[in-house]
Amino acid sequence: MLDAGAVITADFREMPWWWEALPDDASPGYEAPLPQRADVLIVGAGLTGVAAAHDLACAGREVLVLDAGEPGQGASSRNHGMLGRNFKHPFAGLIARLGLAAAIGWYRELDEVYAATVARIETEGLDCGFRRCGRFIGALSPRHYESLAYEYELRARHLGAEVEILPAIRQREIGSARYHGGVLIHDNAALHPGLYMRAMLRRAQAAGARIVGRVAVQAIRRDGTGLTVLTEQGTVHARETIVATNGLTPPAFDWFAQRLVPIHAYTAMTEKLPAELARRLLPGHRTYHDNRRRSNPFLLAPDGSNRLLFSSRNGALPPRRMRDRAAALHRDMLFFFPELAGIRFTHAWAGRCAATWDLLPHAGVQDGIHYALGYCFSGNAMAPYLGSQIAARLLGRETAPSHFMMAGFPKVPLLARSRHFMPLLATYYSLADRPAARREPASAPTSGLRIPR
Ligand SMILES: Cc1cc2nc3c(=O)[nH]c(=O)nc-3n(C[C@H](O)[C@H](O)[C@H](O)COP(=O)(O)OP(=O)(O)OC[C@H]3O[C@@H](n4cnc5c(N)ncnc54)[C@H](O)[C@@H]3O)c2cc1C
Repeated sequence: MLDAGAVITADFREMPWWWEALPDDASPGYEAPLPQRADVLIVGAGLTGVAAAHDLACAGREVLVLDAGEPGQGASSRNHGMLGRNFKHPFAGLIARLGLAAAIGWYRELDEVYAATVARIETEGLDCGFRRCGRFIGALSPRHYESLAYEYELRARHLGAEVEILPAIRQREIGSARYHGGVLIHDNAALHPGLYMRAMLRRAQAAGARIVGRVAVQAIRRDGTGLTVLTEQGTVHARETIVATNGLTPPAFDWFAQRLVPIHAYTAMTEKLPAELARRLLPGHRTYHDNRRRSNPFLLAPDGSNRLLFSSRNGALPPRRMRDRAAALHRDMLFFFPELAGIRFTHAWAGRCAATWDLLPHAGVQDGIHYALGYCFSGNAMAPYLGSQIAARLLGRETAPSHFMMAGFPKVPLLARSRHFMPLLATYYSLADRPAARREPASAPTSGLRIPR
């Protein structure tokens, strides 16, 4: 068995490759004395918080965004940069539970979430490495393929999704013997999360929002005229507040923390692969994952350097140092790509996302505090969408009712909030969804749909 030293380079760094790959810019910075008052105080400067801040500042509100760390350095700039209509509830499952019309309603809003994000990037010219590269979802067994093909046949039929269902014999998307076919979603994209987050921060600042880093909010209390926000550096009075802390929500925000299950996720970036090898393994330069509940996402870096970003072991307890996780990540990478045995990691990092008990994102208002949280690993489009929805509500604007603002926000049972719950559940998922398992990973196929074989 390899130890960490054998799979990491001498200049290995425990930080997101995305941060290092950021070009320098003359940023306005995030240092400022705290004002005593703000119209709206937003807790958390990730995609959710700064999308809301932008819209509120454009409407003339005095907006203060506080972040406990460096603004933008939460999940929003640590993620894999995949952009699509991801949802933890398969379309087939929603049809079975709610009926076709309701299932279409949920998925139509996901279309809007995706379209709003792409439109923002394209019309505002956000410099974020956006590319419409398509996504390939692979199946790791014939059974996984049946289930995946069934789901996407339904989406093509009822939602007009532009997909190609590729049985094992036609699968040329991934140069790995592990896959038994899969689905290519043409209208999916990728972006550089570091650039994207930075562009969204600058956009909010340019609209007039004040963003201050390294100030943790400790509590929010109602007072006669609004809310008193207690921070490490003093008190700020705000007429309105928004909690946008997602997977990093502190236990002190008890109502919110009781509704979220934080999930640790681990990612590594390899050194440069020989160009011919990169082309052979991933000829389409798309984004990739599979349809197990504990999937392995990967993609080639967007800068043409032929580095492979690989993610694994998500949900496990964090190690003391990321280099200690590197050997396990490397082993998992070789399961798919044995040719990479001699390729080492230059970077590895952890990030924190949040799931909810009903696996739905939620936005709304609780006891006078607005929030948008719980994106279950799909926040690149959903976080700014719900941030904007919250801002619109706060401004009293008419918006179409959102599915994500109407559902009740269930509490996570106490047992499931223990730090050991998610690692145990993740292990169960790995066993239940392993290629040889008897159990179906998603909805079982039924007759009447034509699944290519
Ligand atoms: C490894 C990983 C891979 C992912 N891959 C993808 C992907 O490919 N595609 C996709 O769509 N989504 C992906 N996601 C999910 C996506 O990154 C998140 O859903 C999204 O970034 C959440 O944005 P946010 O602004 O709500 O939270 P964050 O970006 O996490 O920001 C929350 C902020 O709140 C701050 N904060 C916390 N507590 C306090 C406090 N008390 N006071 C002040 N500030 C505080 C934090 O410092 C942080 O900056 C991934 C997530 C992870 C972790």
